[in-house]
Amino acid sequence: MSSIKCIGILTSGGDAPGMNAAIRAVTRSAIYNGMEVKGIYRGYKGLITGEIVEFKTQNVSNIIQRGGTILKTARCMEFKTPEGRKQAYDNLLKEKIDALVTIGGDGTLSGARIFAQEFNVPVVGLPGTIDNDLFGTDVTIGYDTALNTIMECVDKIRDTASSHERLFFIEVMGRDAGFLALNGALASGAEAAIIPEISVEKDQLSEMIEQGLRKSKNSSIVLVAESEVTGGAIGVAERVKKEYPHFDVRVTILGHLQRGGSPSAQDRIMATRMGAAAIDALMEDQRNVMIGIQNEQIVYVPFSKAIRNEKPINRDLLNVLRITSI
Ligand code: ADP
Repeated sequence: MSSIKCIGILTSGGDAPGMNAAIRAVTRSAIYNGMEVKGIYRGYKGLITGEIVEFKTQNVSNIIQRGGTILKTARCMEFKTPEGRKQAYDNLLKEKIDALVTIGGDGTLSGARIFAQEFNVPVVGLPGTIDNDLFGTDVTIGYDTALNTIMECVDKIRDTASSHERLFFIEVMGRDAGFLALNGALASGAEAAIIPEISVEKDQLSEMIEQGLRKSKNSSIVLVAESEVTGGAIGVAERVKKEYPHFDVRVTILGHLQRGGSPSAQDRIMATRMGAAAIDALMEDQRNVMIGIQNEQIVYVPFSKAIRNEKPINRDLLNVLRITSI
C-alpha cells in the first residue's frame, strides 16, 4: 500500500487542449485508489496563495470535451524563488497534500523538479503543451488537437491563396520546435515548412525558392514556426519582398486559436491514459518523473532527462514534404 493519502493537482504554463481530460483521469484514478484529491488553481501561483479546493468525482464531470483547463493556469515568478517555494510547501503541509501531479510544459516540469528536490515531495509530471517539444514522449497532450486546427486553417487559406495565385507564409506556434510547422505542412499539403531545427544549418528560404516554387503552381503555402531563429512569418515575408520581389506575398499568423478548441480523440485518450498512469507511478513510489508514451507504451521519464534533452525532429519527414510538394 502506498503511504500517499492525498494528492494535489495543478496545471501550469501554457494551456493545451486535453488538460481537462488529464485532470479528470488523475482525479478519478486517485479516488478509485482510495486517495483524496485537491485541485490547486492557477498553477504554482495557487500553491503559494493557497487557492486549493477538495475535488470529488463530480468536480471533473463533463469536462473531458472542453479545451483549456478548469484549474486555470498562470505563470508565476515567485515560484522561481526559494521563498516562494517555501510558502508553497507550507501550504502543502497545511492542506495535508502528500504528493503532486503537475501538468504543463518544460517550465512546469523544471519547477516541479526543483520543488521535489528541495522538500522531498513526490511529484509526477504530465507533458501538456501543444508544441510537442518534450523529450521522452512521442507526443504531448494538446499537440494533436493543435495540429488538426492548423490543418483546418491552412485548408481554408488554400482556397483564397489559389484564387489569387499568392505565396502565403503562415506562422504557427513552436518557439523552439518545428513539430507543428513540419507536420502541419505535411497534413495540409503545404509546399514547405521553415523550422528552427534546420535554420542554423541552411538558408531554408532561398533553398525553397530555388528548388520548390514552380511558376505553374496556382499558389504556395509555407508554414513557418514562430521563432527568433526562423524570423517568423513576418521576417521571412520581408526577406522575400526584398530578395524576390516578383512574388505576391501574404502573411497569416494563426496565434492563440491554435491553443483552443475541443480536444481530439487522440488527445483525450492519451491524456486519460497518462492521468491514470500518474497515479500508478505514485503508488509505485516513483517520484520526479514525467509520464510519457513511447511506441504506445507508458514510460516514466526522469525530469532531468525530459527537461535537459532536445527532442529531435524526424528529418525524413522534411524529405517527404519536399518530394510530395513538387
Ligand atoms: P511551460 O510549462 O508551458 O513551459 P513556463 O515556462 O511559463 O511554461 O513555466 C510555467 C511556470 O513554471 C513558471 O511560471 C514558473 O512558475 C515555473 N517554473 C518555470 N521554470 C522554473 C524554474 N527554473 N524554477 C522554478 N519554477 C519554474
